[in-house]
Amino acid sequence: MENCIFCKIASGEIPATTLYEDQDFRVILDLGPASKGHALILPKEHYANIYEIPEELAGKAMILAKKMANVLTRALKCDGFNIVQNNGEPAGQTVFHFHMHLIPRYEGDQVGLTWNPGNLTEEDKEEILSKVKAEF
Ligand code: 5GP
Ligand code: ZN
Repeated sequence: MENCIFCKIASGEIPATTLYEDQDFRVILDLGPASKGHALILPKEHYANIYEIPEELAGKAMILAKKMANVLTRALKCDGFNIVQNNGEPAGQTVFHFHMHLIPRYEGDQVGLTWNPGNLTEEDKEEILSKVKAEF
């Protein structure tokens, strides 16, 4: 993809701090980290989001996320770990090349990944169940 910053980083055309690389992925440090060690898993092929990425590659990305969580936790001695993956502007996506955020968490850090819990009503539950079942 022309003009995709993550395509250029993934291919090595634009430099980034690379923690890991294989045939399918490059793992880099985020330039605007939420916490120390915040990294991004970038597939080398361009897919805009979770809807576009093939299932097999999505599976490999999750396996790599698990490996990186272990490695980063050992290396940085963090106390917890978030894996975040945004799709679409309303969900906070700003770079439209699929990526997974690996965010080490530290006791007392100020990383805000929380939301205000609502209530699951009976009405919503029934509506969601029937709509979702119809889509499988
Ligand atoms: P999104 O909001 O799309 O889920 O995440 C995009 C992430 O990419 C942000 O955390 C941002 O800091 C990071 N980012 C944007 N441009 C660059 C860049 O050129 N290099 C690196 N290493 N990270 C970037
Ligand atoms: Zn791209």
